[in-house]
Amino acid sequence: MQTHILGYPRIGSNRELKKACENYWSGKIVLDELLEVGKTISQNNWKLQQEAGIDLIPCNDFSYYDQVLDMTLTVGAIPERYQEIAFKKSELDLYFAMARGFQKDGLDITAMEMTKWFDTNYHYIVPEFQKNQEFKLFSNKIIQEFISAKQAGINAKPVIIGLLTYLLLGKEKEEGFHKLDLAQNLVQVYIQILKELENHGAEYIQFDEPFLALDLNEKAKKTYQFIYTEIRKQFPNLKFIVATYFDGLKDNLSMATSLPIDVLHIDLVRSPEQLDEVLHTIPNTLSLSLGIVDGRNIWKNDFSQSLHFIKKAVEKIGSERVFIAPSCSLLHSPFDLDSEKNEEILSPEIKQWLAFAKQKVYEIVNLKKLASENPDYNALQALAENKNAIENRKTSTLIHNQDVKNRVDVTTEEDAKRNSPFNIRKETQQEVLNLPLFPTTTIGSFPQTKEVRTWRAKFKKGELNAEQYDNLLKQETERTIRWQEEIGIDVLVHGEFERNDMVEYFGEQLAGFAFTQNGWVQSYGSRCVKPPVIFGDVHRPNPMTVYWSEYAQSLTQKWVKGMLTGPVTILQWSFVRDDQPRSTTCKQIALAIRDEVNDLEKAGIRIIQIDEPAIREGLPLRKSDWQNYLKWAVEAFRISASGVEDATQIHTHMCYSEFNDIIQNIADMDADVITIECSRSQMELLNAFADFKYPNEIGPGVYDIHSPRVPSKEEMVELLKKVQAVIPAQQLWVNPDCGLKTRHWDETEKALIAMVEASREMSKEF
Ligand code: GLN
Ligand code: ZN
Repeated sequence: MQTHILGYPRIGSNRELKKACENYWSGKIVLDELLEVGKTISQNNWKLQQEAGIDLIPCNDFSYYDQVLDMTLTVGAIPERYQEIAFKKSELDLYFAMARGFQKDGLDITAMEMTKWFDTNYHYIVPEFQKNQEFKLFSNKIIQEFISAKQAGINAKPVIIGLLTYLLLGKEKEEGFHKLDLAQNLVQVYIQILKELENHGAEYIQFDEPFLALDLNEKAKKTYQFIYTEIRKQFPNLKFIVATYFDGLKDNLSMATSLPIDVLHIDLVRSPEQLDEVLHTIPNTLSLSLGIVDGRNIWKNDFSQSLHFIKKAVEKIGSERVFIAPSCSLLHSPFDLDSEKNEEILSPEIKQWLAFAKQKVYEIVNLKKLASENPDYNALQALAENKNAIENRKTSTLIHNQDVKNRVDVTTEEDAKRNSPFNIRKETQQEVLNLPLFPTTTIGSFPQTKEVRTWRAKFKKGELNAEQYDNLLKQETERTIRWQEEIGIDVLVHGEFERNDMVEYFGEQLAGFAFTQNGWVQSYGSRCVKPPVIFGDVHRPNPMTVYWSEYAQSLTQKWVKGMLTGPVTILQWSFVRDDQPRSTTCKQIALAIRDEVNDLEKAGIRIIQIDEPAIREGLPLRKSDWQNYLKWAVEAFRISASGVEDATQIHTHMCYSEFNDIIQNIADMDADVITIECSRSQMELLNAFADFKYPNEIGPGVYDIHSPRVPSKEEMVELLKKVQAVIPAQQLWVNPDCGLKTRHWDETEKALIAMVEASREMSKEF
């Protein structure tokens, strides 16, 4: 039996890589200094795995920005617009220019697009393909990494994005070809890389092919067969591991097990039920890698359950054909639980339930020992500790709250329904709210200036007391209310100055959430996020936002919109418990948000927005699982929104909206008003709403807040006219496409003044 790791986090134990990259970009350090940091991180990672006793240690899992972009540079798929930079600059500068764009030395070149890596919160740089795309070995990174590992005394296993996955992740930038048609060309570069690796003494190669766990068409299936057969022909002696993860192989199982490879890795965390079928199907030339330790979450592995899987596999195919591993790369796990030292932030009781990347490495090693005939003392000790921790978590009073469970049980479909259908609510709301046609509003946050962030930092350090901090926030809120009144916005917001982050702010006030000091996970490039940990039954001990909404409303005769984060988004952007279905956790959060919505209403807030920007990204990878997810996700939103009177207007907001295939579900959410991002994909998106005859009100974002550019009144009027041609004026709102948190006041003021003018000009025609 062998142990291996599919990939290790590369940001460093203290986010050293983030800091070094950012310092390099701003010119504070030189290239060699950055390279030194990178090298040290790789070496520390190797050493850690070596000391733990991992058999196959990965290399090339390190990256300065993104592993997909690494592959793009490796195979020389460099878009035309970077040619000039390619001539003038170092390879790494070219690489960063592709990732981040380049505005210097009289050049202005846009970055490559970025999108989510499957259903994770990691973002990769999307490869761009042309019809006559050529590939050539451009960067030697893979070989270099293999050599460095060798110098560190390790015959590493290079991790390479599988050819099919690489192509399928990319985008055709012109018409008239299919990206899979490029496989034949591309395979030549792969062969070249493999030759060099073989010459340097590589034994195992890991190809990441997560697409094997997704819906594939016939063309893709055929190409898989073809490519792996081609590669095998050239390399009878290299051992190929094909790694699948994030879902089960399902209908691709027989194709995957018939590939001419040596080891197939499967994800038994996401899809434990596939083990029996895989063991039944697997030919005796193929070894099986069991992905048993969760690479996507922070919970300690349940050893007895994992040992059960291992035993099953060993009995069927023999221990020499069994590998054990985390379910996927540990890129998605925080670095090291040992660095969580502050017991006030993370209590010892909760901490004992957790395992970060380093701890997961040791779990894998211990599982191998425990699966052997004579486990050593340490392994047996680890097993005993593991049993205790698992048992403690099952029964802890910190986790289980019978009132919350009972409340979930008695929640019925009725609780997820407003009192009256939308057309009746609309009339009641119109009477109470008395809003003009094309009402203007914003999405919630106003600029979080340096000052505001300094107040929060000082407050946390104790340099400002609660009252001082509160007063400063109140001044900022009042200023924002006055300014919105002055320029004539119809529905005001308080500005969200008291919030650090739209999930953290709520997590900190809800029971069942824990936080870490250093639980950073790479999101994209140098950016990391620190998701809260939902460990227990969730409820809301006290009102969370009423204070600020009530205060803001007290300042003005106009309506102030209450501002909440929705249950699906809170779930999606946290580490979620694995001891109950996600849907149950989501329902608990929904009930907590419902309490908040009801309290806001009681406090006189008549318009309440429940943000759900993450509802679409929560979609399962396989289409056959979509409806089930959408059913509970939409229901959770409705539970949170349906405790109020007809007269109270519920808004929701979503960004990065690609709704065409789920528009029915969006309509089922039955929000009175939905504000969406559409300044980028514009009419395509609106047509989805128009064709569907979306019945409720819509605020299509009339300008892009992601850029500092100030839009003109004319262009917003133009957009609104286009919108109004397909969606009746009585249904339309006018707003930016997302919160203004990251913008400066200067551009915000100009843009919103123009936006209000655009709305007035539109109303003139009615
Ligand atoms: N209300 C939030 C804000 O304005 C919404 C943010 C989001 O959609 N991501 O900041
Ligand atoms: Zn948004």
